Amino acid sequence: PGSDPRLPLKLVIAAPRGFCAGVDRAIEIVERALQKFGAPVYVRHEIVHNRYVVDSLKAKGAIFVEELDEVPDDAPVVFSAHGVPKTVPAEAERRNMLYVDATCPLVSKVHRQAERQIEKGQHILFIGHAGHPEVVGTMGQVPAGQITLVETVEDVANLRFTAEDDLSYLSQTTLSVDDTHDIIFALKERFPQIVAPKAEDICYATSNRQAAVKQIAPSCDLVLVIGAPNSSNSLRLVEVAERMGTDARLIQRAEEIDPSWLEGIGTVGLTAGASAPEKLVREVVDRLSDWRVVEEDIVTTAEENMIFKLPRQLTE
Ligand code: SF4
Repeated sequence: PGSDPRLPLKLVIAAPRGFCAGVDRAIEIVERALQKFGAPVYVRHEIVHNRYVVDSLKAKGAIFVEELDEVPDDAPVVFSAHGVPKTVPAEAERRNMLYVDATCPLVSKVHRQAERQIEKGQHILFIGHAGHPEVVGTMGQVPAGQITLVETVEDVANLRFTAEDDLSYLSQTTLSVDDTHDIIFALKERFPQIVAPKAEDICYATSNRQAAVKQIAPSCDLVLVIGAPNSSNSLRLVEVAERMGTDARLIQRAEEIDPSWLEGIGTVGLTAGASAPEKLVREVVDRLSDWRVVEEDIVTTAEENMIFKLPRQLTE
């Protein structure tokens, strides 16, 4: 046998990567609801932003819809991990529907903080990305007009509040840690009286995955991020790598990798957003191995052992 003609490729795999505790829980909620109530179980919005996950659950009998009015009164419905505005469970109650809320407990924590800040008479400046379902959900916890979305440092300069107003801030859980610090810095500079949340709202999974990419990116020629284009935390991982000066690409599946991307490349970094299953990571390793002799190196920057309890409805 001759030697392998394929060139070696160093593959640096970030850890932690992929599924977080909130995503694990949300998927298990749909699976258990299917077992307990039987198919079909409706899911309002993609349970997590990953097509592979959504298609797997569809195959088991889940039906995905965007709004509650697409769900029959007598069918069970699950709300996605991103959270929902208060009007959604209220409407489900009004229609006497059987619903299970798969909102990540770390998102629910932000919801409760928002309510408390409003009770204290504060106007909330909410740091997040317009249109993301988590943002719609969190802003929908409080009366319209008492919360203002802030997306950038420039937005802070344009706010029409004064240093006398009762203000507080909160943020989406899946933002860029660095950008959010800059926005908070700008907020505190303009409004020194602004009240901070009890703890940072960006979740452990988001910050751990960003820190891991920061660690690996400098030694890589290219970073591949497995995630969906509508997955906020995955998009942020691409940005983190790019800001370290490394080319980065977001891919949903291994089949999207073009062999030309590897031309002249010796080291590839690999990570996955919080909604991407590990199976898709292995799929990428296999595909890269079709072209090159892959030498895997896992770089671990944090250990995670978070587990969230399932709703009692599904465990009793
Ligand atoms: Fe929860 Fe964070 Fe995972 Fe979102 S990314 S589901 S907030 S743990």
